[in-house]
Amino acid sequence: MNFVFSQIPKPVLPVVGSSDVFPAHRIFCVGRNYAEHAREMGNDPDREPPFFFLKSLDSLAPEGGRVMYPPSTEDLHHEVELVVALGKGGRSIEVADAFECVFGYAVGIDLTRRDLQADAKRLSRPWDFGKSFEQSAPLSSIQPVLSREKHPNAGVISLRVNGEIRQHGDLRDMIWSIPEIISILSNFYMLQPGDLIFTGTPAGVGAVNPGDRLNATVEGFPDLQVDIVGSE
Ligand code: MN
Repeated sequence: MNFVFSQIPKPVLPVVGSSDVFPAHRIFCVGRNYAEHAREMGNDPDREPPFFFLKSLDSLAPEGGRVMYPPSTEDLHHEVELVVALGKGGRSIEVADAFECVFGYAVGIDLTRRDLQADAKRLSRPWDFGKSFEQSAPLSSIQPVLSREKHPNAGVISLRVNGEIRQHGDLRDMIWSIPEIISILSNFYMLQPGDLIFTGTPAGVGAVNPGDRLNATVEGFPDLQVDIVGSE
């Protein structure tokens, strides 16, 4: 087969403890999954079922590093999240079977053009321009799950900007559990190996600017460092 131009390769992520790489397929994100964050965005966490949005695959910034401050925003926000990396897919997956689909976990930042997202909410328009843009999904290497007992259900999740704590929460405060998220999502999509699911962010989201260094951590998983750089 002769391509009319050279194909852009799909991004891959390093796997901890291995020279193998994880081929990414799609990026799903849970909209609200920590009560305190739902409240800080002006929503009632008790009444809302989970909802999702997607980022295009070229949003991935594998292992973070230098991330360009994106165009057409004056309010770029950080959201630290635990990310589920699927090694198996399926449709209508039962909650009890969902962990079997998980290859591993990573630490991600759901970078958001908050001003564009706020405009979209106000005008009842899609969130895409606020959420999906180049390098809007920095992601650590992937920590594989080595046994069924190793799935996280608690642990500190935090984000620092220039050394200062901005977000600090615990995975146990997720409104919807990892198996529930996978199961619900599989009622809408035929999930595939390589799919990534950002599981929502704790409270404390805020703006970042060129020159800022972001350090995202989830207890037991690889750290992620991002340096926001200005456009030349
Ligand atoms: Mn998010």
